[in-house]
Amino acid sequence: MSGLGWLEGEAAALKGQSLWRTARTLTGASTATPIVELDGERLLLLCSNNYLGLASDARLGEAAAAAALAHGVGSGASRLVSGTGELHVQLEERLAAWKRSEDCVLFSSGYLANQGTIAALVGRGDAVISDALNHASIIDGCRLSGAEIGVYPHADVAACARLLHKARAAGRRRLLLVTDSVFSMDGDLAPLGELVPLARQHGAMVLVDEAHATGVLGQGRGALAQLGLEGQVDAIVGTCSKALGSVGGFVAGSRLLCDYLRNRARGYVFDTAPPPPVLAATLRALAILEAEPALSEQVCRHAQRLAAGLQALGYQVMRPDAAVVPLLVGDSAAALALGERLRQRGVLALAIRPPTVPPGTARLRLCPMASHTDAQIEQVLAAFKAIRDEAAA
Ligand SMILES: *Cc1c(COP(=O)(O)O)cnc(C)c1O
Repeated sequence: MSGLGWLEGEAAALKGQSLWRTARTLTGASTATPIVELDGERLLLLCSNNYLGLASDARLGEAAAAAALAHGVGSGASRLVSGTGELHVQLEERLAAWKRSEDCVLFSSGYLANQGTIAALVGRGDAVISDALNHASIIDGCRLSGAEIGVYPHADVAACARLLHKARAAGRRRLLLVTDSVFSMDGDLAPLGELVPLARQHGAMVLVDEAHATGVLGQGRGALAQLGLEGQVDAIVGTCSKALGSVGGFVAGSRLLCDYLRNRARGYVFDTAPPPPVLAATLRALAILEAEPALSEQVCRHAQRLAAGLQALGYQVMRPDAAVVPLLVGDSAAALALGERLRQRGVLALAIRPPTVPPGTARLRLCPMASHTDAQIEQVLAAFKAIRDEAAA
């Protein structure tokens, strides 16, 4: 008898709660416009983190292809063994300058960057203070670290202050405050203007995850740049996998911090170095972003228009601070049904359900892209209007 027998019941339970998830295969992704094909249907893509449309940009493709031919497809080893090539050094220097930091460490993903960095900075006897809605990679990093974890209600500065105070009073050695800058499922901005000075007041380290702000806010440099707080944060985490259209994660900070991570972050030390083609693509994306600041403005403008339009139609939309527009539904089955009705009208947006979001807060997470036209955003609003009218009839 197989030991996997329990799986059938587990899967059935998830399906019964409308929580079973499957990956759908999209084909025929157009390079020029965000239109994809799903089961033979052409749909307007409204659920990608490829915020600037760079993932399918031919210039990134050409850079990646040239790098594959010049430097190889794989990097062959971890960074400290023989995996560091000139593109790794070049991209780290470029990202450091972009984030106004002394140095930068590349990881294979933002997930590994968070996990590796948090577990390197704190451990047993330390405390990490974390926003309740932080990304899963932060949560996993906190758990992995072995430090005491204090979770404050989303964006609650006073509660965060109490936790910092409590950790100090309990004699915790090192304190680390971690927060997303733009929250991935709520689309709002952390109160960084208050959190950063608060952490410094308690002598706590600060790590800010700019995954959804990189390439979108602060002329692409992130929320910290927009708020003028870049120099006041110890570790800035970013990802190359969203607006930059490539793949990979990074941590920007002081030279000493970065060198320490190169020694102690296990996701850096024990992971094969990122491959040359994606490094070249990321470098190209950064050059494009610098030359075309209108790209990040365009995606934010679309997000504002979408939120305002949906609100006017009576939908419950959370105010977008960047390019994530959450439309709150509540019930998982209802969120799935709304996504399905939207698909019938030619728009692809996924229902986000627990455990990605708290129970009872299932939603459609709408992500416009710089490559959408104004007409396509209006097309989305027209689809939502038709759905609303249908429900009222
Ligand atoms: C997507 C995301 C990550 C993970 O980045 P990857 O490069 O996709 O691994 C980390 N933090 C936040 C807030 C994210 O949204």
